Amino acid sequence: MSNHLKQKLINFKQLFYKLPKLHRYLIAVLSVTCLLLVITPTYHFSGKGVEIPLPKLQDPEFKGVDVALSDFNTDTIPDYEWVVQEGDTLGELFSMFNKSYTLTQILEADKNVLSLDVINKGDIYRFWFDGETDSFDGKNVVLERMEQYLGVAHQVVFKRKNKGYEYKETLLEGTWRKVRIAGEIKSRSSFYKAAVALGLPANDVAVIRRLLKTKIDFAKQTAAGDRFEIIISKQFVGNVSTGNTKVEGVRFFNRKTVYSAFAYKGNYFDSKGEGLERAFTRYPLKPGFRRISSNFNPRRRHPITRLIRPHNGTDFAVSTGTAIYAPGDGVVKRVVRHKYAGLYIELQHSYKYRTRYLHLSKALVRKGQQIKRGQKIALSGNTGASTGPHLHYEFHVNQKPINAMGNKVPVSIGVDRKSKGEYERRVSSLIRMMESEDVTSTKADKEKAKKG
Ligand SMILES: [Zn+2]
Repeated sequence: MSNHLKQKLINFKQLFYKLPKLHRYLIAVLSVTCLLLVITPTYHFSGKGVEIPLPKLQDPEFKGVDVALSDFNTDTIPDYEWVVQEGDTLGELFSMFNKSYTLTQILEADKNVLSLDVINKGDIYRFWFDGETDSFDGKNVVLERMEQYLGVAHQVVFKRKNKGYEYKETLLEGTWRKVRIAGEIKSRSSFYKAAVALGLPANDVAVIRRLLKTKIDFAKQTAAGDRFEIIISKQFVGNVSTGNTKVEGVRFFNRKTVYSAFAYKGNYFDSKGEGLERAFTRYPLKPGFRRISSNFNPRRRHPITRLIRPHNGTDFAVSTGTAIYAPGDGVVKRVVRHKYAGLYIELQHSYKYRTRYLHLSKALVRKGQQIKRGQKIALSGNTGASTGPHLHYEFHVNQKPINAMGNKVPVSIGVDRKSKGEYERRVSSLIRMMESEDVTSTKADKEKAKKG
């Protein structure tokens, strides 16, 4: 039992029922009022503004209070909310609920979404229990639903069904706002330092260096006086920044040469439309090790429990110790041990693509490492919940799994002839933004950019 963790939990239902009856009544009435405001059509009268009839407030002693309360859907209030703080773990939380076995059941559902390994400070978890929720012994309580809020744009819901859990993942696209970052490298500085000082996330610096690495060596060839113009976009949900950014375009002026990269449909090209990223190889395994034992199937059900258990990858029947090779350039995002997925690796390739490798016996890379296409990254195995040695390989586009053996995998990259015109118009519009002073998001950024 951990008391410090217990204190961080907010018990909503207890709070609700501890409120004086009048307050509960007012919450119920206000909720109904809000609902009425939402569903009541509004009428516009010219010159008079908008008129909405307000419902008459009833006397608090009115006998209909309990009816109003029962109409108020308490299911929308979680029993507990937990905001993750430094060092918190899900294991600790579930053992506090006396629900360690429930965590095991949820992890079984998590195998194909792998959202429980990314627990970060500030993430929010909400819990709905059924049964006697005031006691912490957990005996007569079942977890009906757990909602995971990983930042503002990413939500995963685990819902109880047939003695197990199913999950639903929601990714909000939100809106992307363009920001201009322009500056110059001063003496005894570097592109990295200059760009980060102007507000370019370090992650995006790495992307730019990777995109232009075959053209310019940022460590050796850049010098004081070199200039850069970058357009990035920042993701917002409503008015809240998600922290996600991506590079839309960059021009780097090195003495008399301009090196550029522009994003188009999620891939990067130079000013002539030549691809700046290498194509992916279809298989992460050498020829002779590519026998598929189970195909991608997002609608698969468990044969016994009948729970939806999407197979978000392709299984290759390979014996333990078979070498696995990165299908594209990228960076190692995770090297994690999961109860069901076993030892697994996740690679991020540009913003759009990522790959996962499950049930490994050995990882040959570490988190944060830059990876080249064809680099040996791991040895296959039989770890986690696995019915025999195999490699489970996942390919994700925009964070959603696709069939890596299908046609959507980028096996060749270049602006096709049909899209040339559209691509050129996009490049011109990005260059106009780069040359304009007005695209900067805030005054502060603008001032910073001038000083840069
Ligand atoms: Zn599999």
